Amino acid sequence: MAQPYDDNNIFAKILRGEIPCNKVYEDDHVLAFHDINPQTPTHVLVIPKGRYVSSDDFFNEADEAEIAAFFRAVGKISRDLGVVDRGYRILANAGADAHQEVPHFHLHIFAGTDLGRMIKPAGA
Ligand code: AMP
Repeated sequence: MAQPYDDNNIFAKILRGEIPCNKVYEDDHVLAFHDINPQTPTHVLVIPKGRYVSSDDFFNEADEAEIAAFFRAVGKISRDLGVVDRGYRILANAGADAHQEVPHFHLHIFAGTDLGRMIKPAGA
């Protein structure tokens, strides 16, 4: 069975305005803010406003308007951040093997330095 949505997760609290974020973008369906522990000079998180636990949940359950708004927003945010010309990486962790920490779907935008090639699995 799919994991139930936890309304006490940190991004739900950010969406309700209970804790602050360093916002970079907001519309009816999407919020984006700087990661509190940036891994690269630019590290922004993009989240849907709907209650989706993971990428799998979002891809299966979100409606067309939410999905379109989300990916249009990722494009706009990337352009507005000024990272498109030099390059950037988008990434979503889902589930235990990917070490997803916050159970509200989010997409990371990494940029601002040479990001290397892809990823290194643990132990590699
Ligand atoms: P993930 O491992 O993909 O679930 O990533 C969760 C991300 O959320 C990590 O990069 C954290 O640094 C980030 N994070 C956790 N709490 C906050 C917060 N209050 N504001 C901004 N980013 C956060």
